[in-house]
Amino acid sequence: MTFDAHAIAKDFPILDRTIRDGKRLVYLDSGATSQKPNVVIDAESNFYRLNNAAVHRGAHQLAEEATDAYEGARQIVANFLNAHSEEVVFTKGATESLNLVAYAMGNAEPGNRFHLKAGDSIVVTEMEHHANLIPWQQLAARTGATLKWFSVTDDYRLDLSNIDSLIDAKTKVVALTHQSNVLGTINPLEAITRRAHEVGAVVVLDACQSVPHMAVDVKALDIDFLAFSGHKAVGPTGVGIFWGRAELLAELPPFLTGGSMIENVTMTTATWAPAPKKFEAGVPNMAQAVGLGAALTYLTKIGMENIHRHEIALTAYLLEGLAAIDDIRIIGPATTGLRGGSISFTLGDIHPHDLGQYLDSQGIAVRTGHHCAWPLTRKLGVPATTRASVYLYNTTEDLDALIAGVQGAQKYFGR
Ligand code: PLP
Repeated sequence: MTFDAHAIAKDFPILDRTIRDGKRLVYLDSGATSQKPNVVIDAESNFYRLNNAAVHRGAHQLAEEATDAYEGARQIVANFLNAHSEEVVFTKGATESLNLVAYAMGNAEPGNRFHLKAGDSIVVTEMEHHANLIPWQQLAARTGATLKWFSVTDDYRLDLSNIDSLIDAKTKVVALTHQSNVLGTINPLEAITRRAHEVGAVVVLDACQSVPHMAVDVKALDIDFLAFSGHKAVGPTGVGIFWGRAELLAELPPFLTGGSMIENVTMTTATWAPAPKKFEAGVPNMAQAVGLGAALTYLTKIGMENIHRHEIALTAYLLEGLAAIDDIRIIGPATTGLRGGSISFTLGDIHPHDLGQYLDSQGIAVRTGHHCAWPLTRKLGVPATTRASVYLYNTTEDLDALIAGVQGAQKYFGR
C-alpha cells in the first residue's frame, strides 16, 4: 500500500473540522493524545449497540459475543507486539500499567523474585515521564530500596558511561522510556537490557511514545515488561496495555483484587487465576479494548514501517524548517538519528504558553509546559517548552503552517 497522509487524514473525522473562526485544524499534539479514525469510533459504539454484556461471566449469547470480541482484541494486541495473548493485560492506560507493576512488586513477599528491600536498587532515567518515575519513587520509599538514574547528556541522550556501576548486582528493576515524550530521543535498549539481565534485573519499558509510531517486537527487544496507552495509538481513551513475560507474570503478585481475578475464595482467603486474569480485577473496559483492537488493526494495515518512515520524513522537514528561524532552540537531537517525531523547542524569551496561545489563534494545536517530565526540563534549564508531535495523518502543509505560525508569533510579540 502506498502511504498517503492526505488520504489517511480523511479517515479521521475531527481533522475535517475548523476551529477559531473557521481556521483549518492543524493538529500537532498527538504525543499527548492521537485522533481517532472512523473504524475505531465505529468499533467502540458498535460494541455498545450490538454486543454489550459482561465478559467471562454470563451464560447467554451476548456475553459469549462480548467475550469473543474482548479476547479477539487481546489476540490483536499480542500479534501487534509479537507476544502471547496470555501475556497481554488490559488496563485503563499506561499510567495504570506502570503503577500495576510497581505496586505488584511492592506486594511481593520475601522469597519472591520481585521482593525489594533496603540495599536493592531501582534504576530509571532523568528523561522519564512522571508516570514512569513516581511509581518507582513510591516503591523505593515503601521498600527501602534506593532509586538511581541515568543522566541526560548535553546532546539529549542517556549517559551510559557509568552503566556498569549504576546497574549492579543490587539492581532489581531498570525502568525507562523507549522514546522521550519531550526530546524525541529513542533510547539504546540493547546495551541496557544486556547489562540489566547480566545482573538479574528486569527491564520495564514505557513504550507510550514508541508503540504508536514504530514496530515494537517485545521478543526482539528482549525486555521483561512493557506499558502503553491506547489513546496515543489512534485507539480509545480508558484502555492501555501491560505486557509481561509469561514466567514473570506467573510470579508477580496481583495489584488490584476482586472479581474475575480469582481461582478460589473462602471467607478468609483467596487464590489467584493465572495471568492475564490475575491482573484484570472487575468488569474490564470491554468496548475500549475492542476499539483498541480496531486501532491496531488499522495501523497494521497501513504498516508500522510506513508510519515510522513518514514520521521521520516529517521530523527532518520540521527540524530543518525550525532551525532556520532566529532564536529557536531545539530541545532534543537536531537530526533524525535515533529520534522520533516529538519536537520540543524554545523561542527566544517568548514564554511557551504565550507561543502556544498565539499558535492556537492560528488553528495550530501544540503542547506547552513541562510535559509531565519536570526533572528533565529542570535539568535542561528551561521552565517549559513548546512541543509539536507528528503522526501518520500529518502532512508537510501542517508543518509549513507551524513554521509560519512561529514566525508570525515573533512579529506579534515584537521580536
Ligand atoms: N509515558 C510517556 C512517555 C508518555 O508520553 C505518557 C503520556 O503522555 C505517559 C507515560 C502516560 O500515559 P497516560 O497518561 O496515557 O497513562
